Amino acid sequence: MNIHEYQAKEILSTYGIPVPRGRVALTSDQVERAAKELGGHCVVKAQIYAGGRGKAGGVKVVHHPEQAQDLGKELFGKRLVTPQTGPEGLKVRRILVEEAVEVAREFYLSITLDRNSSRYCLIASAEGGVDIEEVAKRSPEKILMFTIDPALGLRPYQARKLAISLGLTGSICEDCVTLMLNLYRVCQEKDCVLVEINPLVVTRAGWLLAMDAKTSFDDNAIFRHHEYPDMMDYSQLDTLEINAGKYDLSYIKLSGNIGCMVNGAGLAMATLDVLAEYGGQPANFLDVGGGATREKVAEAFKIILEDADARGVFVNIFGGIMRCDVIALGIIEAAGEVNCTLPIVVRMDGSQVEEGKRLLAESGLNVQSADNLGDGAAKIVAMLRQ
Ligand code: GDP
Ligand code: MN
Repeated sequence: MNIHEYQAKEILSTYGIPVPRGRVALTSDQVERAAKELGGHCVVKAQIYAGGRGKAGGVKVVHHPEQAQDLGKELFGKRLVTPQTGPEGLKVRRILVEEAVEVAREFYLSITLDRNSSRYCLIASAEGGVDIEEVAKRSPEKILMFTIDPALGLRPYQARKLAISLGLTGSICEDCVTLMLNLYRVCQEKDCVLVEINPLVVTRAGWLLAMDAKTSFDDNAIFRHHEYPDMMDYSQLDTLEINAGKYDLSYIKLSGNIGCMVNGAGLAMATLDVLAEYGGQPANFLDVGGGATREKVAEAFKIILEDADARGVFVNIFGGIMRCDVIALGIIEAAGEVNCTLPIVVRMDGSQVEEGKRLLAESGLNVQSADNLGDGAAKIVAMLRQ
């Protein structure tokens, strides 16, 4: 689960990590008022669930409150496209106005979960700012990394070694050590999979400041934090993903033209692989999980059909716990409700499979049954080519 920059900064601030003074605004008048309160010389920052805003025009320095207001008018409602958003971009509904800061140096600092070692990993670079991905590609030796032993936690001497490697000395070096230790506390106590400060700056006045902040919480730990659901900004999520969440279905949007309904994450991966093998491109996949009811299958199928990119549907279900006739009825119900004319290929196996196939064959839908995964992938690809 992601949150906005301003929310991440509120959390950092409660852990003693210095952030610029700022106000969040929902209208361009509020942007103006915030800029006035902050002295006029401000940074206006579009709040979206993606980075790379600076280069896309979503982060700008202004010198007068009226200028801030004009920028607010331009940004609110606009879909900001950055390398992290995909071509359709994300809509700006909130803007953070912050006092402008004179920057002496910019660093990169983050703590994230390293899935290989199953540990938190501290990452830092003296080449912070907007192009950290480029630095990682071009000169990986400039990215410093350190995995944290969960039993020992982050030790001050380890943080100090890293701060010194960044070229920091004296009291700023010690401030950076404290900041890293606090950042680790944020990760642990807030169950983060990522906390990123890019850039972490040393100001002209000689202070450390978290100028940008990005935080993602571990979805599996949301139950431990009752405030998290209210922090979510649904305007930043795919509507179909939200609907799927309501029915406890996992829906993932992809870039091709075949909607995929499967049961189980492993079968989903196998389905995508085999589709690709036969020249098919998935538009999405939806995992209905084990033991889904007819209603749940129908909802799942409707969500797939709502994806405008889906030109056909491939259903691949192994009916161990689920009965194939239940799946067939769910599909028929949903397809009938939304007048689906798209080609559908259903590969089912397991309990009640003959009954399921019979129901589909007699349904009047544009549907073919497949005997196995390869057969199904070949059939849907062929039907789409016609
Ligand atoms: P991102 O592009 O989405 O990562 O957005 P950031 O919040 O990191 O802003 C992009 C860049 O704008 C930063 O890397 C800074 O170089 C610059 N920037 C943001 N706020 C200020 C500020 O107060 N003063 C100055 N001088 N630059 C800023
Ligand atoms: Mn940034």
